[in-house]
Amino acid sequence: MTTTAFIGLGAMGFPMAAHLARQAQQQGGPALVWNRTPGKSEAHAAQYGTVGASLPEIAQADLLFTCLPTSAEVEEVMAQLTPHLKRGLIWVDCTSGHPDAARRQRTQLAERGVSFLDAPVSGGTGGAEAGTLTVMLGGPAGEVEAVRPHLAFAGKAVHVGDTGAGFAVKAINNVLLAVNLWAAGEGLAALARHDVNVSAALEVINASSGRSNASQNLIPQRVVTREFPCTFALGLLAKDCGIAVDVVNGVGGSAPLLAQTAALFRAAATAIGAGADHTAALKLIEQMNAQEIK
Ligand code: NDP
Repeated sequence: MTTTAFIGLGAMGFPMAAHLARQAQQQGGPALVWNRTPGKSEAHAAQYGTVGASLPEIAQADLLFTCLPTSAEVEEVMAQLTPHLKRGLIWVDCTSGHPDAARRQRTQLAERGVSFLDAPVSGGTGGAEAGTLTVMLGGPAGEVEAVRPHLAFAGKAVHVGDTGAGFAVKAINNVLLAVNLWAAGEGLAALARHDVNVSAALEVINASSGRSNASQNLIPQRVVTREFPCTFALGLLAKDCGIAVDVVNGVGGSAPLLAQTAALFRAAATAIGAGADHTAALKLIEQMNAQEIK
C-alpha cells in the first residue's frame, strides 16, 4: 500500500491532488494533503475524501508531491519536513522550479535516504482538472519509471534528462509561450491602430503561418474579450522567463530574444501587477500604443 501526500493546493495543486486521491482510493491507500492556508486542505478533504495532515505526518508518506510557486518555497517546506522525513520517500516536485535548486535539493535529500525528482507540468488549470497534464521529468531513469504509474494527473510524461532537466525544459517552454504572446500582442496592436478589426486579423493569422497557442486560444479568449481570467499569474510567467535566461547563461549560450522577453515580462509584472493573469502583459503593449487589442 502506497501512502501519497500532496503539498500546495493552489490553482494547479488542488485539481492535481484530486486525481492522485482518486487513484490512491482505488488502490486502498490514503491520500494526505497539506496547505499553508488550512481552509484549502479542509475543502479538499470535504470534496475528495483526502486527509488533512500535519507536516510531520506528511513526511512519513511513501510518495510526496509538491506544487508551490518557486523553488524558494519548496526549500522552506523542505526545511520544516527534513527532521521527520522517512527513508525511502520519493519527492516529486511539480513546481516550475530552478534547475540549480533541483540539484541542490536532490543532494540534500539523498543524505536522508530520500529521492528527489523534478517533475514540472504544462497544460494549465484546464489540463489539471481534466488529468491531461504534460509532465517533464528530470532524474535517474529507474526512479522516473518507479514514479510514472503514479502520475494520475498526466496525459503525457516524458523523461527529459538528469536532475534539473525537467525544470530547464519547463522554463524554455514557458519563455516560448511568452515570446509568442508578446509578439502576437505587438502585431495585433499595430493592426488595430491600422483600423483592422482584431478578430478578423486573428481569423486570418490562425489559418496562416503566424499562428500560435497565443493567437488561437489565449488572445481571443482572454484579451479580445477583456476578461483576463486569472488562472496563471503574470508574476509566475515572469519568474519562468528569468529561469530560462539562467538556463541559457548557465551553459554560456547566447539567446538575446529570450533575454529581451524576460525583461519585458518582468516590466509587465511590475507595471500591470504580478497577480494579474499572464495575458494581462498585453495591457503594457496597449499602453505603449494607446490602443486596446480588441
Ligand atoms: P497558486 O498561487 O495558485 O498556488 C500556490 C500554492 O503554493 C498555494 O497552495 C499556496 O498556499 C502555496 N504557497 C505559497 N507560498 C507558500 C509558502 N511560503 N509555504 C507553503 N506554501 C506556499 O500557484 P499555481 O498553482 O498557479 O502554480 C504553482 C506552480 O505551478 C508554479 O510553479 C507555477 O509556475 C506552476 N504552473 C502553473 C500553471 C497555471 O496555469 N497556473 C501551469 C503550469 C505550471 P496558500 O493557499 O496558503 O496561498
